[in-house]
Parts: sequence; structure tokens; C-alpha cells
Amino acid sequence: MPEDPARELEELAAQLAGWVRYQGRLGRLGTPAERVSRPVQEAGVPGRAPTLKEVRAELGDCRRCKLAGGRTRLVFGDGSPRAALMFIGEGPGAEEDQQGLPFVGEAGQLLNKMLNNLGLKREEVYIANVVKCRPPGNRDPEADEVAACLPFLKKQIEALRPRVIVTLGKVATQELLGLKAPITRVRGRWQRYGKIPVMPTFHPSYLLRFRQERHKTWEDMQQVMKLLERHEKI
Ligand code: URA
Repeated sequence: MPEDPARELEELAAQLAGWVRYQGRLGRLGTPAERVSRPVQEAGVPGRAPTLKEVRAELGDCRRCKLAGGRTRLVFGDGSPRAALMFIGEGPGAEEDQQGLPFVGEAGQLLNKMLNNLGLKREEVYIANVVKCRPPGNRDPEADEVAACLPFLKKQIEALRPRVIVTLGKVATQELLGLKAPITRVRGRWQRYGKIPVMPTFHPSYLLRFRQERHKTWEDMQQVMKLLERHEKI
């Protein structure tokens, strides 16, 4: 029997509170969703970054490049404005062009499945593309199209201020980071966009064709989740 049970209970409670504070600092408390969420920007503060709504308004009924002529709907982005995790793809395909949402076709279903397996919901992350209008026949976007659209992706990043970006495939990786290296060389290796850590990985369309490569993207995403959970700088 302890000498002073009340005192012992008090000490235990203090130890437990310390442990909870410590785990909280490590980002180990909360659901995956809580760990990938961050406070949203406040509007009306001088010198602040734009909000996603403002970036969308500036883009308007965009006619800045020739892709506008062939689109059904402009695909701006989708997800939480509080997301700490942002995915960047290449450009809308046929299904995305119809619905006005990114990654809703077959590749999108694979992306959703991967998010699910990571314990995340699509609504908790943010998804955008390098170009907002569908390139004909799903060809790669051309230099003038990227030049017209990339500033808006950069403003989306500025508005969102994600803690981590995942670039999906060659186009997103090369255009965002200004790299020439093939995706096979850079995937799985941390890069930076300004101060934001960027993890390049394979595009889901590639993984639909080359199923045996899926484990590599899974490994890349484990690195991303670890970084988000650790709240650490790389
Ligand atoms: N592929 C992309 O790169 N983006 C989409 O939105 C859909 C397919």
C-alpha cells in the first residue's frame, strides 16, 4: 500500500499530462485528418497571401492560352483550404474536363484509394494541376500553356501554404521545381519549393499501367506521412 495514495495519484496525473504534452509536440496525437490540417488564412490582413477564392476569381473565365478553346470546364482544384498536404498533377483528362474537378477519372480513383489506405480522405487534402484546362488527347501541356497557367498554381500554393507538396509525375515535378531530371531519378527524394518540402512520386496513370511500381509510390507516401507526423523540418 503506498504511503500517501492521494499524493501518488497527483504525481501520476502530472506525469500523464507531461506525456500528453510531449506526444502533442511530436504531432502523435489526433487522427491523420487532424495532422494534415492547418489554420486557414485570414482575409483582410495587409500584405497577406491571397485566398484560394481570390486566386479563383483572378483566373476568371480564363482565355490566357489556347487550351481554353477546347475545354468544357476549367479545373481549378479541389479539397480543403486548410490542407497541410497538397497534391499536384499535370492537367485535367476527359472526366475532369466534364466534371470540373481534378482526379475524378480512373487515375483519380487510384489516388483516392491510396489516400484511403493512408487513413486520409480526399476532402482533407488539396489537389490541383499544373494546367487548369484539358490538353487535347491528353497530351503533355506545351511550354506556352504552362507559362500561362503556372503562376496560378504558384498562387494556389501561396494561398494554401501547405506543409508538404507531393508532385505526381514528370510534368508536375519538372515544372514546379524547374528540373530536367527524369521522374525515375527524383522520385522518393525530398526536394524544395521555397521552404516547402516536395516529394516527387509517380503519376497514378503510370501506376495504372505499371502496377508493379505501386510499392514505390507507397514508400514515398510513407516518407510524407512521417514528415507530417513529426512536425519536423527536413
Ligand atoms: N491527371 C492529372 O494529372 N490530373 C488530373 O486532374 C487528372 C488526371
